[in-house]
Amino acid sequence: MLATVDALLPLSLLEAVRDVDTPEGVLEAEFVDELRNKRFGLSDTVYTQIKRYTEAVRRNQRTAQEEAIALAKLIGRRPDAEAVLRAAGRFLAREAYMTVSPVTRGMLHVMPSLVARPMALRQVRRIARRYLNGNVRRVGTSLLLEIPRSITVGVAAGGVGCAFYEATMRELLRLLVGTTGSVEHTRCEGRGEGSCEWRADWRSAERTQSQAA
Ligand SMILES: [Zn+2]
Repeated sequence: MLATVDALLPLSLLEAVRDVDTPEGVLEAEFVDELRNKRFGLSDTVYTQIKRYTEAVRRNQRTAQEEAIALAKLIGRRPDAEAVLRAAGRFLAREAYMTVSPVTRGMLHVMPSLVARPMALRQVRRIARRYLNGNVRRVGTSLLLEIPRSITVGVAAGGVGCAFYEATMRELLRLLVGTTGSVEHTRCEGRGEGSCEWRADWRSAERTQSQAA
């Protein structure tokens, strides 16, 4: 069977490219000056592909994994690959977060962490499975995100490609539970360690408790 990814993944990669290459980019305004000479993201090709993936997302259609990998490789050749991949990860997390019902989103922010944390964990698991083809499990005060078949591993030198998943996880946790704790890349396919894995801090923030009080 042909391996597929949710169309939101390639869409996120291209939205990040377009945003970084747009002088008035709202997401990455601080990078604009140094990137002024690169305008791939403003090309008709990118515009057409973004339209295509947006339509696929709307119709719940999946994309061939190879297609997403090809895009990631293209980004990996840019000197600003890491910035683009991180922007893509944040974009994916924000779009995925919007698939959580407004009622649940509201509850996540007002309920005590004893109630909110298990709810948040279910959403992290669902989002990781659907949008990243990843598995999430809780071990003590940590969450482990495992990506058996990374789209971005090895697309740029060092661990640059892996920044995509790290940024996704970080932004997702910020949105769901308000934490900005550490997200550590503990295992990497790129270092011959099987699959890529991240460990995120999952200790309850006091903020959640005091808000509910
Ligand atoms: Zn990795």
